[in-house]
Amino acid sequence: MVTEVQTNPKRVTAEKVVTTTCSYCGVGCNLQLHVKDDFIFKVTSPFDSPVNKGNLCVKGRFGYDYIYHPKRVTTPLVRRYLLEGKPKPEGREQVFAISMDGKPILDSKISNDWDWVATDWDTALDVVADNLVRIYQRDGSDAMAVYCCAKATNEDNYLLQKMWRSLFRTNNVDHCTRLCHAGSVVALQKAVGSSAMSNTASQVIQNDVFIVTGSNTGENHPIIALQMKEAVQKYGAKMIVVDPRRIDLVDFAEMWLPLKPGTNVPVFSAMAHVIVKENLVNWEFVKNRTEGFDEFLESLEKFTPEYAEEISGVPAEDIRKAARMYATAKNGAIYWGMGISQLSHGTASALSLIHLAFLTGHIGRDGTGLNPLRGQNNVQGASDMGAMPFHYPGYMRVDNPDNRAKWEKAWNIEEGGLSLKLGLTTTEILGHAHEGGIRALYIMGENPMMSEPNLNETRKHMQELEFLVSQDLFINESGAFADVFLPAASFAEKDGTFTNTDRRVQRVRTALAPRGLARPDWKILCDLATRLERRLKRSTSSKWDYESPEEILREMASVNSDYAGVTYERIEKVGLIYPVPDMNHPGTPTLFKETFPSGRGKFHPLDYVPVMEGADDEYPFVLTTGRLLEHWHGGTMTRNSALNEAYPEARVEIHPADAEMHGITNNMPVRVTSRRGEIVLRATVTEKTTVGVAFIPWHFAEAAANLLTNDALDPEAKIPEFKACAVQVFPAREEELANPEVEVRRGRY
Ligand code: SF4
Repeated sequence: MVTEVQTNPKRVTAEKVVTTTCSYCGVGCNLQLHVKDDFIFKVTSPFDSPVNKGNLCVKGRFGYDYIYHPKRVTTPLVRRYLLEGKPKPEGREQVFAISMDGKPILDSKISNDWDWVATDWDTALDVVADNLVRIYQRDGSDAMAVYCCAKATNEDNYLLQKMWRSLFRTNNVDHCTRLCHAGSVVALQKAVGSSAMSNTASQVIQNDVFIVTGSNTGENHPIIALQMKEAVQKYGAKMIVVDPRRIDLVDFAEMWLPLKPGTNVPVFSAMAHVIVKENLVNWEFVKNRTEGFDEFLESLEKFTPEYAEEISGVPAEDIRKAARMYATAKNGAIYWGMGISQLSHGTASALSLIHLAFLTGHIGRDGTGLNPLRGQNNVQGASDMGAMPFHYPGYMRVDNPDNRAKWEKAWNIEEGGLSLKLGLTTTEILGHAHEGGIRALYIMGENPMMSEPNLNETRKHMQELEFLVSQDLFINESGAFADVFLPAASFAEKDGTFTNTDRRVQRVRTALAPRGLARPDWKILCDLATRLERRLKRSTSSKWDYESPEEILREMASVNSDYAGVTYERIEKVGLIYPVPDMNHPGTPTLFKETFPSGRGKFHPLDYVPVMEGADDEYPFVLTTGRLLEHWHGGTMTRNSALNEAYPEARVEIHPADAEMHGITNNMPVRVTSRRGEIVLRATVTEKTTVGVAFIPWHFAEAAANLLTNDALDPEAKIPEFKACAVQVFPAREEELANPEVEVRRGRY
């Protein structure tokens, strides 16, 4: 029944207003959810929020109605073959599932045994537990893997990694940080021994000069972009944008350096070259706080501005000017996004930025710093919680026996019970989905069939899995491959905490009862873990009967000293910025004031390594991918919300000069082809992109940009090269827009 709350929200008075944290990006804006009749009819924000001061972007303000979308699944679903004890039928790749009214449907061409059957929680969780234990007891720890979720709470992620490590004794645990900032994380760990932002985003108003690179901040972190613009317009800061696209921040910038995709190392190393040659180095900082300068200096010799110009297209004089501006600032800072990290040399790319901060001493003070802007609302928190293959919570290496002993004690596990073997990364897990490799995969809230590179390969890997569980709000492109679907509560239907890009731990609060039979992730995991524990019959058992998310957080904080002083009571109003080492500690907005976690900051000599697949005569464009203001990642939430009306279809941006050369006009359907796949979508002819560069957002399953992208990995960080691959762009016919050859689709509704 449609109520007045839905038709005329302006006339409605809220029964309650619940303050919580936005579930989209890493800014972590505070939201006020106005609720009447168990329905959110308005979202506002408190003006005293230290994060967003009452401001919200379009996603936070309007992007919440996916909670009520008819396609949301609110009942546990199990494939018929599992309920009837039959062998697995052929044809998983043809299965899709849910109709617009939320009822399961069946494609008549495939076996009824693939039909989804709505069931109760006990039945669904028993099926999951039986099959996970069956596979584990047959094939061992190496057959088990899990994707945690950067959209879920800290508590949800802590529990899921604990479950996999303590029950299946494997570190095959990862999440989407692998696909966004893994290059930054590895580089920062190598250079300073810590991988989070060193300063808070709101300190941008204390910068005199700041560099924004590889980040379309205005669309990806809109509230931080607002603060950047304020820093320029109100506080007189100078902004240098280094990006292949003419993003909106360029209008506010002192300089724009439009480099070719994947040429960060030569540009930033050339800036370092200038800083050294012109003696703009902060020698005291280099001498007292860093090591490895001499070897680094040797590697820097060839990175002249002219050499960088030849590779990147950025004029040498502009590189000199930018270097002087940053080096001579009182307070200089660097903010970066995935244009730095999503490359097959993403680690080197981030190191080239870190070197600039070391040379100038723009680190360890307020208004300076190294600031990788984290994408998802809780990607920082999920990483802190140990949702990674090499680390327990608190970034404790899993291959260190002392760390193992600490977690064995916390989880009541026999001595030597946890695995010392490094786990597989997100990008490796699916590649190992074959006989003798990964057989069971549990996905909480992630969507690899949209977010992995080279999706035609990913699709083959998904089909190879023996048992797949999807725990989510919708049956998305990955859930379509699942054997069991577990309906989870949305962010507005549960309690917990998120940690934003500033390292600020903030509350998530229940505003609504979960729809239908949906349950908060942490409750699903506790119920499942209890069943698994019973079936595994180990001599010791871990705690799974938590009363509340707060109890879960306290268990994690008892071992992870960064969170030791974080309690729900202390973060009730404005959160706390970790490290918070004790109950009286006020939090730490600025890191590295005295020293780095690794002691001294370490320079690393660099070389220039080109992207794996540059443009050539056959594939003359470099494709770069990214996000839009109106949409979020694989689209599971925003494409099922009112925001989809604001931006309903995929588009490829190309420069007017390229459009003319290839006979393409604005709005024309075009076919974009790489060596791995093709999509058909409309063209936007715009000077926002540069000559030779095509840009496609990756939110649209019907024209999935990741069908085209290259799965080449950074050897250290294992992050794929999403930011550069070679493509062709040709005019297509209108009727080809729904290209039947495109293999990844949103579903047959
Ligand atoms: Fe949400 Fe990010 Fe927008 Fe803030 S800037 S409202 S956190 S999406």
